[in-house]
Amino acid sequence: MSSTLVQASYLVAALLFVFSLAGLSRHESARAGNTYGVIGMAIALVATIAYAVQSSSWTGFGLIVAAMVVGGAIGVHRALRVEMTGMPQLIAMLHSFVGLAAVLVGYNSFLRPGPLSAAMENIHAVEVFLGVFIGAVTLTGSIVAFLKLSARISSKPLMLPGRHLLNLLVLVLSAGLLVWFVASGSAVPLLLMTALALLFGWHLVASIGGGDMPVVVSMLNSYSGWAAAAAGFMLGNDLLIVVGALVGSSGAFLSYVMCRAMNRSFISVIAGGFGSGATAATDDEDYGEHRETNAEDVADLLREASSVVITPGYGMAVAQAQYPVADLTHRLRARGIEVRFGIHPVAGRLPGHMNVLLAEAKVPYDIVLEMDEINADFPQTDVVLVIGANDTVNPAAEEDPTSPIAGMPVLEVWNAKDVIVFKRSMAPGYAGVQNPLFFRDNSQMLFGDAKDRVDDIIKAL
Ligand code: NDP
Repeated sequence: MSSTLVQASYLVAALLFVFSLAGLSRHESARAGNTYGVIGMAIALVATIAYAVQSSSWTGFGLIVAAMVVGGAIGVHRALRVEMTGMPQLIAMLHSFVGLAAVLVGYNSFLRPGPLSAAMENIHAVEVFLGVFIGAVTLTGSIVAFLKLSARISSKPLMLPGRHLLNLLVLVLSAGLLVWFVASGSAVPLLLMTALALLFGWHLVASIGGGDMPVVVSMLNSYSGWAAAAAGFMLGNDLLIVVGALVGSSGAFLSYVMCRAMNRSFISVIAGGFGSGATAATDDEDYGEHRETNAEDVADLLREASSVVITPGYGMAVAQAQYPVADLTHRLRARGIEVRFGIHPVAGRLPGHMNVLLAEAKVPYDIVLEMDEINADFPQTDVVLVIGANDTVNPAAEEDPTSPIAGMPVLEVWNAKDVIVFKRSMAPGYAGVQNPLFFRDNSQMLFGDAKDRVDDIIKAL
């Protein structure tokens, strides 16, 4: 394959990736967005492999195919086995692979730089240094995120004394090592920086508290994009640079959206450790008594209602309750009851988690509203069904300035006439704080697995 044809293929693939991102930004076009992405990646792979074969050898081709078969088999095996609730940690793990790849490409490029003009030598050294730095930060940061999201380590933030100063020190030291590396070309500053960057990535994510993890997920997504772009520079692969920049900037934008949703400052996220307050609280405050209800009574309440809002959360994903919820929605609408969904931007464990589940269950897109679109309507709502949501409907975020989630905008479900909370116990949500909503006069708890309880309501209707 000629180099012109390869560049043309890369251009087409890059355009398809742009269409893919545009498609993925809306429910209606998400399927088409995925298709564009798959076609773009197929073109990119074929062009890259064909070019590699031509410019190196069939041995190279054999190695690529062998790596793809092994990697693909592991990927398919994991993808088939992973539960929807295990996706966040899987994604964090995949980000760590991108970081590792950037580090390996960096060292490879340092050890075997290929023919370089004198003018390019310094630029190449900077590329290698930055590529390894970003890759190493992404690698350990993603591993810590994986451990936290899969509950293998505590989600409590690590609060080292003077942690911001430590971060600053690492950056200043790394800048000094960069100067040394460019001037000497020695492996020592590169190795020292790698060790520092690995510690830095670990510290950045370890300092962030449980409730603020959504921002970490999108931030690492962004870092992995920049790591891929850095690898693209080192390999001289234009497509990798473009794709890395697309992932890096869309991840940065998503981090910004998440920060806005949680009312956090973007800069303090980049600095790490901003979620210091989000510790698992040992809450001994007396909230009063909660009231329990049953499926038959909820069915009666729904029969009488003229407007219903459903606010799903992580528990809906755990229970896989989206299908009965969609069925219930269909039945209520058939009775002329207005049913809408209120989606908090950080509900679940992934950006867009609830939207994906509802789309899977074929809930019409036009009744799925964002928090800002539905919040003003709660006072005119008869019944709110809180299905496995907790932190995202916690009034303490607005009313208690000492709460770890203080300042985070939430779905103001308590303003509705009646609120039914579906969960299995009185346990707190992901941020580890109790929810005063459960004890309000207009709230009733419907205990049990959300899927079973929604099925019971459908039967009772
Ligand atoms: P929460 O995690 O706050 O609460 C979920 C609730 O679901 C729990 O209280 C649990 O209570 C209940 N639940 C669990 N399983 C079931 C089941 N089978 N049936 C019924 N209920 C069940 O959920 P939210 O969606 O409200 O909030 C998301 C939280 O996750 C936020 O704190 C957010 O910051 C964080 N997060 C979000 C990410 C994202 O990108 N969206 C990423 C990482 C973290 P019980 O055990 O009593 O049943």
